Amino acid sequence: MIKQHRTVLIVDDFLPDREVYRRYLQADLEYEYTILEAPSAEDGLILCGVQPVDGILLDFSLPDLDGLEFLAALKKKQVSNCPPVIMITGQGNEIVAAKAIKNGAEDYLVKNQITPPLLQLAVGSAIASCKLQQQLQQRIEQEKIVSKIAQQIRQSLNLEEVLQTTVTQVRQFLQTDRVIIFQLEPDGIGKAIVESVGSPWRSLVSASFYDSCFVERYIEAYRQGQISTKADIHNCGADECYIQQLTEFQVRACLVAPLIQSDQLWGLLIAHHCSSPRPWQELEIDLIRQLSTQISIAIAQSELYQKVQSELTQRQQVEVELNESEAGLRLALEAAQMGTWNWNILTGQIQWSANMEALFGLQPGEFDGSYEMFASRLHLEDRDRVLQAIKQSVATGTEYNIEFRVVYPNGQTRWAQSKGQVFYNETGQPVRMAGVDLDISKSKQLQEDKEVLLRREQVARAEAEAANHSKDEFLAVVSHELRSPLNAILGWARLLRTRELDKETTNRALETIERNTQTQVQLIEDLLDVSRMIRGDLQLTMAPVNLAAAIEDTISNMSLVAEAKQIQLSSTINISCQILGDLNRLQQIITNLLTNAIKFTPAGGKVEICLQKYNSCAQIQVIDTGIGISHEFLPHIFDRFRRAGSSTERSTDGLGLGLAIVSQLTRLHGGTVTASSPGVGQGSTFSVLLPIFEPIISSSSPEISPEMVEKLPLTDIRILVVDDEVDSLELLTFALAESGAIIKPVSCAEEALEVIEQFEPDILISDLAMPQADGYTLLGRVREIKRVGKIPAIALSAFAKEADIKKSLEAGFALHLTKPIAPIELVKAISEVLIEAKAVTSL
Ligand code: ADP
Repeated sequence: MIKQHRTVLIVDDFLPDREVYRRYLQADLEYEYTILEAPSAEDGLILCGVQPVDGILLDFSLPDLDGLEFLAALKKKQVSNCPPVIMITGQGNEIVAAKAIKNGAEDYLVKNQITPPLLQLAVGSAIASCKLQQQLQQRIEQEKIVSKIAQQIRQSLNLEEVLQTTVTQVRQFLQTDRVIIFQLEPDGIGKAIVESVGSPWRSLVSASFYDSCFVERYIEAYRQGQISTKADIHNCGADECYIQQLTEFQVRACLVAPLIQSDQLWGLLIAHHCSSPRPWQELEIDLIRQLSTQISIAIAQSELYQKVQSELTQRQQVEVELNESEAGLRLALEAAQMGTWNWNILTGQIQWSANMEALFGLQPGEFDGSYEMFASRLHLEDRDRVLQAIKQSVATGTEYNIEFRVVYPNGQTRWAQSKGQVFYNETGQPVRMAGVDLDISKSKQLQEDKEVLLRREQVARAEAEAANHSKDEFLAVVSHELRSPLNAILGWARLLRTRELDKETTNRALETIERNTQTQVQLIEDLLDVSRMIRGDLQLTMAPVNLAAAIEDTISNMSLVAEAKQIQLSSTINISCQILGDLNRLQQIITNLLTNAIKFTPAGGKVEICLQKYNSCAQIQVIDTGIGISHEFLPHIFDRFRRAGSSTERSTDGLGLGLAIVSQLTRLHGGTVTASSPGVGQGSTFSVLLPIFEPIISSSSPEISPEMVEKLPLTDIRILVVDDEVDSLELLTFALAESGAIIKPVSCAEEALEVIEQFEPDILISDLAMPQADGYTLLGRVREIKRVGKIPAIALSAFAKEADIKKSLEAGFALHLTKPIAPIELVKAISEVLIEAKAVTSL
């Protein structure tokens, strides 16, 4: 039988006693004793510190300390696994023994009563009792750790914190060098996630490891939940590769428990002893087992918590997103002026989003959710259509999409577009209809505006096309009208040049040429007038005009034309009145009306002109028995370039300008002109109304009588005529010479200036546009010459615009005459200018 071993320290100053105790103990058959001896308390305490001792035999009376003092010193020294003390006292000294027990002694023996079995029993039971106490103490410690960690697991959801506390507590409890928790991935790669390590040992935390030897040979046992203990890695039969790995980690002994999570190996709880081999106690293994269970709970709890936490975060995120998207939707709905609606078909209740009420012109909360209220807001003309569309959607399941008008309580109408869908239950019964309404008033308005614009554009285009057409027509007419007289002029001119014509034919030829030229001049005058009218440049020289005289004058001019066409031309003058106007322009009005009347009245017809009073106006009426005017054409008769019928069926000459000029001139005189006709073939009447002028008699203006004009012939009148156009100069010289005047024709301003002082003219007649110095310059220079500077001057120019006339009058010409001018007119104008000049100088 192998004896178990015990080490006992005997502290006694009396050697023979020590010998006795040694002998007694060594006589034990069950135990083999190592006996340590100390002759003093001090020696005993030293020995306890250096060597593990299982029990102490202590003599109470020592030379240096008594037994109680030794006990106190031993306690103070905190010797590891503090050995039990058996106090040996003298006989009759039980009080001392009791005191010793109170102060920590395990037992006591009385000297002289000690026998070998008694001593062996006392030492054996003291050691056993002490060991039991120590184990109990360790168990309590272990329970404390386990419950502390379990409590922390219950209280904390922070896994890392729990694991960190675990490794710290375990290392402290095991009094070992390193405790780690190793997490394993399914592929065998592991990582120490928490660690408690004493110096000088290497830290393994955070590094990742993969040991194929471990994975292949050892991991399976852990998967099955087995705990592994190795008291000395060099002496445990482990594989060399595994030993090598552990040596690298400085491990000498290890205790490893698997951490199982949902039947999977999650990781390992590992205690390493590095300094020396270590046989692991049952208690320690048990602690590790218990803690691995607790850690598994903590891991499960933490993973659950993290899952819940991430679900919660996810849900919060979803909620935030939902809120955001709801807010976004609300904003979008508002921005788009859109509302959503939801009609519970079973209960009949309608739910509207806030902006639906705005869309229907209602205050927030005003909508009562009834179908009737919704229907009552629809425009009367649209209501049936909308309700019918809803009915149809419910009945057939087709998409509801309709535009309608909504009438606001204030009567305002808005356009809405509604889109919706019907939802059915499993039995096919319609239960719900939902959709959106959109305010489309703006787009409707835009659409309407667009249509108006389109219509306008079409009208404008049609007008432009018509204008273009009339322009083409006008150009055709103008060219025709200009060419027709030219034909006659050219034809007769050629004949005159190439043949010897008799006097009568020659006269007829010249007459034709003159008449046609006159027609062309008139055409050009009309065109210029229209052009002035368009530019707003047509100006009148206003003076009191005797309307009756003007009419008589015109009639006498026209009588030949009427006669030639066998038209009876008559006049009825009922009043004698003056109007304020431009005589020439007034005569132009009358001429145009009479020309038309004669032109559009067939031979044998009648044309009558009447002057009468009409309210405060003078009314001139030109009445004919001619072709009349259709009702369709009558409203356009005063438009420019308008002629009844098309240009291709031209029955008469004309540009369609005469009446436009009449209308404009009448307006400029403050009057009106109207046309009337009972119809085609029934004659026409044109009526001009002009305001009558009440003259204010003035004594300052010199009166020029026609007699004065006749008494002053051009005989001996010295006229300096300047014109760079030879033909024109020749014609002027000839015509004026015939009137008895003395002419000095020159072809430029310089020449005129050269001769003027010597010639001493009574009047200067000058062209305006001339090379080098023009007419204005000439007059300016003439005015500087003392002797002749004050002579009157007449401008004779092809420039016929109002502005040209104005310019020459401002430059100092007494009159502006436009080329071509009939000689008789020129003579008349010269006479008038001379008379006026004379009148002014005589004032
Ligand atoms: P035109 O020079 O072409 O005659 P007007 O402006 O004087 O131009 O006249 C325009 C159109 O009005 C004429 O072409 C003709 O169709 C119609 N018209 C003018 N006067 C009369 C009238 N007295 N009787 C019938 N139609 C007339």
